[in-house]
Amino acid sequence: MSVVDRQEWDVVVVGAGGAGLRAAIEARERGARTAVICKSLFGKAHTVMAEGGIAAAMGNVNSGDNWEVHFRDTMRGGKFLNQWRMAELHAQEAPQRVWELETWGALFDRTKDGRISQRNFGGHEYPRLAHVGDRTGLELIRTLQQKIVSLQQEDFKETGDYESRLKVFQECTVTRVLKDGSRVSGVFAYDRETGRFFVLEAPAVVIATGGIGKSFKVTSNSWEYTGDGHALALLAGAPLLNMEFVQFHPTGMVWPPSVKGILVTESVRGDGGVLRNSEGKRFMFDYIPDVFKEKYAQSEEEGDRWYEDPDNNRRPPELLPRDEVARAINSEVKAGRGSPHGGVFLDVSTRMPAEVIRRRLPSMYHQFKELADVDITAEPMEVGPTCHYVMGGIAVESDTAAARGVPGLYAAGEVAGGMHGSNRLGGNSLSDLLVFGRRAGLHAAQYAAGLAGGRPPVDDVEIDAAAAEALRPFSAEGQPPGEEEGRPPENPYTLHQELQQTMNDLVGIIRREGEMRQALDKLAELRVRARRAGVEGHRQFNPGWHLALDLRNMLLVSECVARAALERTESRGGHTREDHPAMERAWRRVNLLCRLTDPTGGLAATDPVRGQIDLTRESTDPVRPDLLALFDKEELVKYLAEEELYE
Ligand code: FAD
Repeated sequence: MSVVDRQEWDVVVVGAGGAGLRAAIEARERGARTAVICKSLFGKAHTVMAEGGIAAAMGNVNSGDNWEVHFRDTMRGGKFLNQWRMAELHAQEAPQRVWELETWGALFDRTKDGRISQRNFGGHEYPRLAHVGDRTGLELIRTLQQKIVSLQQEDFKETGDYESRLKVFQECTVTRVLKDGSRVSGVFAYDRETGRFFVLEAPAVVIATGGIGKSFKVTSNSWEYTGDGHALALLAGAPLLNMEFVQFHPTGMVWPPSVKGILVTESVRGDGGVLRNSEGKRFMFDYIPDVFKEKYAQSEEEGDRWYEDPDNNRRPPELLPRDEVARAINSEVKAGRGSPHGGVFLDVSTRMPAEVIRRRLPSMYHQFKELADVDITAEPMEVGPTCHYVMGGIAVESDTAAARGVPGLYAAGEVAGGMHGSNRLGGNSLSDLLVFGRRAGLHAAQYAAGLAGGRPPVDDVEIDAAAAEALRPFSAEGQPPGEEEGRPPENPYTLHQELQQTMNDLVGIIRREGEMRQALDKLAELRVRARRAGVEGHRQFNPGWHLALDLRNMLLVSECVARAALERTESRGGHTREDHPAMERAWRRVNLLCRLTDPTGGLAATDPVRGQIDLTRESTDPVRPDLLALFDKEELVKYLAEEELYE
């Protein structure tokens, strides 16, 4: 039997990005003894990288804005596949969450009359993103960390121990959610520095682990985004929702190769930047889809006037939702009108004075100067699509953030599905993680406090199994049944590279049936080989071992993406099928749910051909009539299925 440290908490939050920290603050404020555990350094979560801002209909820059307009934009952006109740709560509560951040010390940029400034972003009808230059995520995390420290100081005054009610375990990775029957009982984790295993026992666990981008070769995502939370939920018996929807941000760096994929914030376009092809043409005017025709400028002159007079002009098509812009760039490059390094040109240098560019986009200025030796105040940037965000995620109850089917499990932030439908609008993630992070913390704390019959016990057998699974890369025991003995171990880095290439080439921005079938075959092969992933050395800070463990998660999640993408025979939002190019209204009624084939969570038994994932269809909830009444009938006809219109 493994001897591991065990600690008791009421709520464990896995992840210390915006969603995790907001959840932890709420749970602690509701009286729950709360532990936060994160695999990076505290304060280094992916949220720090967020640049453009937090979407919230505060109406500071245009008083026409309100939650109903924000709700409408979010549903349009998601092509009506959003879990509408989440979109409603999000639009209603985002302003409160931003004002609350300000009371906790966040220093937002201001309007001339001293209010929180808000900027334009794709798909948002009004200037709506509260921001701090192009370093908003950093300020958000700094503020939430500061709030945590202040709560710990309060606890110290009362108990003499800073960490008595709120403790952070940094550089520790969770590999399993533990269960007592169907209920959550805690998490199993290892300390990345020492390799030591430990267990945090808790009746409620909030998963806030972010996204999956590291399964793709070209991505804006940081090293942490290996789909851990998605996989933890699957292994605990919770379904994932609509995993086919992966957002390819239209503007990542394309040159030099070492920085390919790094994000070029949408604020560049929000503040006036334009996209041009190699012929110098502003090509986005050729790519306005019918559903958006009435809302976007039809000429460059009108688009340019909009920046000064948004009430009497329509916005330029550079500010279409991300999926539209990414596809347009892809088409231009494919048609031979791309830039020298396979992207298109994004230009602010001819649109704004140099000192304005340096003030409004300081990170972009430095990023291009230092990484590509390009001065964006004098010359255009070269940009192209990059894997950026996953809309699919853990299926949750809209109001409570409870994961479906697993009592005690909650999810918030990028790891949760539903909120953004088939495509997320820029700025809607930071607001999402504040709104639903708070809700997850609240409901997890209430659940823990209301438990009848005591805390669920943690089973030693489960701990032993989790420890054995984590140690497998050090031994030959992982030899899959029926395989010949003595084959050399697989290198986890090679497996990772092959996985990334497969997902990029075969399940990327434009998808085809044959290629996705090839991807599933390759994933089956990689899954078998990954069971032989071997590492040398010991458990003290061993990145090869960490990657070998992360591979399980990336392979699970990638299979979900590929299976769901193959199943959905239409194009919608972040899912584009070359063989099914139209958005089909009938598919608006369909959610795709992925579950583990082997419900015991044992992965070894799964059939290498059939795979690890069962896919089922489920009908979406009909949108509430008062919310539908916010749209014109003619617009609804473009989105809703025939029977919904009659209803
Ligand atoms: P994260 O902030 O990524 O936090 C995840 C946490 O989980 C981390 O602490 C990580 O260490 C931890 N973790 C992961 N796996 C484990 C594990 N197994 N065990 C323990 N801990 C684990 N969105 C906007 O709304 N506006 C923007 O302007 C914007 N700009 C962006 C710019 C860039 C470059 C990028 C890449 C994204 C941007 N986004 C933006 C998206 C947004 O930043 C993310 O969607 C959001 O920050 C996700 O927050 P989160 O709290 O869900 O996860």
